[in-house]
Amino acid sequence: MRVRQSFLLIGTVVLTLAAALGQEPFAVQKARQDLDRLKELAAIGAISKARLAQAEEKLGDAQDEDTLRRLLYGKVGVEELTENQAREVVAAAQRRVDRVSKQYQGQVGLVEQGVVSKSHIDEFERQLADRRLGLQLAEGRAKIFEDLLNMAQAEEIFVSELHDEELTPRPIVESFTGSGVFKDAHLKYIEAGFEKQFRKPLPVSARGQTSLHTSLGFDHAGRVDVGVNPDDEEGQWLRSQLQTLRVPYIVLRAMIPGKSTAPHIHIGLPSTRLKSTDTQSGGGLN
Ligand SMILES: [Zn+2]
Repeated sequence: MRVRQSFLLIGTVVLTLAAALGQEPFAVQKARQDLDRLKELAAIGAISKARLAQAEEKLGDAQDEDTLRRLLYGKVGVEELTENQAREVVAAAQRRVDRVSKQYQGQVGLVEQGVVSKSHIDEFERQLADRRLGLQLAEGRAKIFEDLLNMAQAEEIFVSELHDEELTPRPIVESFTGSGVFKDAHLKYIEAGFEKQFRKPLPVSARGQTSLHTSLGFDHAGRVDVGVNPDDEEGQWLRSQLQTLRVPYIVLRAMIPGKSTAPHIHIGLPSTRLKSTDTQSGGGLN
């Protein structure tokens, strides 16, 4: 009996934990509850299909808002997004514009017919402007994500277990092995030197392992990408520093056909393929 009670208790704790971890925000929960209630009413013919569709839209809107809150306005860095998430953010922002835009059009029609006053649509205009701004932000971030993706993909041909050299035109112009060692102390030294030289921080575009690299199956831990053009002043400065320090690097010029340009310098040895079990790699340098 006692054993059974313990099991029940454990079961309850596990369920509570699971609920807490996967918990939806209040607005989504509320919209879902409303929809469930209306579905029952619709089943007995107590409400119209249009009313049900409205509740469905409301749930979709709350879910999209939650997506933006987490992935656009939250603390998640753009390099921590997966490709699907980056796409979903733009799609959610677009749907939020479309929903209000549709409502707004309907209201404008009513104003034209003299059914409602002009001031009635002010709120829709405000919301629409707000949501369009969100869409702009989402698209801007998607562009940055795409650049990072291109950078990571440009490195794919250096992944050590890949040997299709004839198939891919090599953007490589320079690859330096040096001592083969790249440490955090090297990076700190370079970052300080760059800032002193150019009066701005070193434009690091990927520091160690990112979700993006994980999703592409690369081990990028202990490696750093710097978004400089290898041939301009900053790139030349960086390369000469790395050579002096004997730190390995790869220069990537944008010469992969069909890819948008993403020149950068990859510091560290080439990435390796992640083992299929190795989904979580260390984040920083060692
Ligand atoms: Zn890299």
